Amino acid sequence: MSKQNRRIVLARRPHGAPVDDDFRLEAGPLPEPGAGKVLLRTIWLSLDPYMRGRMSDVPSYVPPVQLGEVMVGGTVSQVVAADAPGLAPGDLVEGRTGWQDYAVADPKGLRKLDPAGPPASTALGVLGMPGMTAWCGLGNIGQPKPGETVVVAAASGPVGSMVGQIAKLRGARAVGVAGGAAKCDHVRSLGFADCIDHRAPDMAAQLAAACPKGIDVYFENVGGAVFEAVLPLLNPFARVPVCGLIANYNLTEPVPGPDRSVALMRAVLTKRLLIRGFIVFDFAAQQDAFLQEAGPWLAQGKIKHREDVTEGLENAPRAFMGLLRGANFGKTLVRVGPDQA
Ligand code: NDP
Repeated sequence: MSKQNRRIVLARRPHGAPVDDDFRLEAGPLPEPGAGKVLLRTIWLSLDPYMRGRMSDVPSYVPPVQLGEVMVGGTVSQVVAADAPGLAPGDLVEGRTGWQDYAVADPKGLRKLDPAGPPASTALGVLGMPGMTAWCGLGNIGQPKPGETVVVAAASGPVGSMVGQIAKLRGARAVGVAGGAAKCDHVRSLGFADCIDHRAPDMAAQLAAACPKGIDVYFENVGGAVFEAVLPLLNPFARVPVCGLIANYNLTEPVPGPDRSVALMRAVLTKRLLIRGFIVFDFAAQQDAFLQEAGPWLAQGKIKHREDVTEGLENAPRAFMGLLRGANFGKTLVRVGPDQA
């Protein structure tokens, strides 16, 4: 029997939080690699919050996934067939081939992985896009100095956990914000000075107590109530790399309430705040520098990482829906296929 390619496509655009019916599992023949292309078998699929944005047809920094198209996503795959210099069957590559068992890819978009290097899944997490997001957002925009206080939310995830650990390696004091006691305990075990549960009713007071000298760098991953608690604590000349706003991704209408832009802009002016959004690919030219620094950190145990693995492509939608509401604990990965086939 010939092999089938299972694919998860966008069936419907979500209204608010995605639900099962927004995804569809399809099966079809294996794609044919044309001249100069590579046929890949997916081993690992990365699930990331940005995918929620790609499901909506609203203007953004990249076009959305079209209805009926395979969901986008970073992957680690094994080469099945290659018409490309430097790639041969059996090689491991990191690419962006989406939620499917097999894919045809342009070799230009692939990064060959060293089979003797760190576990392949790290190419999607601590040594991949999320790790690099933390490293370049903190290095280029946050620029923490020794003794300064760095706050980051979603602190148990791949971006936030890396932000705090890098801040500490740079001599700063890291304070995390995370959902629940287990995640906060884990964040403290990574060397953060403290971690606040954002579900606690007195979260703002707890954050103020954990930052007695104010906040010099707030690495913004979530927005919403956490940002409200952070704003009054920002020190003059604080830096705010705006990386993500996951608390807002499922909003369907503006949040009711008073106009907060007045207080925000007053703080920006009087405290001379630097608030700068960024997308990791703005710093693509720094990827080698990131890997040269973070690779040895990981090998020497100076940074730790945690993975949250779901088995089976068919379970990717459920894992993704969980990620958006904080049900994940660590870098969200789907084991699509075995290491060797
Ligand atoms: P995580 O694995 O940390 O997962 C997201 C986490 O967000 C959840 O686990 C949950 O953690 C937290 N969360 C969800 N809703 C809320 C809420 N209302 N308030 C507070 N926390 C919430 O994700 P990543 O590390 O992959 O990504 C973190 C952020 O970085 C996201 O906003 C993402 O979009 C952004 N990002 C941006 C990039 C860029 O290029 N600008 C690139 C990569 C990521 P908890 O249980 O602790 O609440």
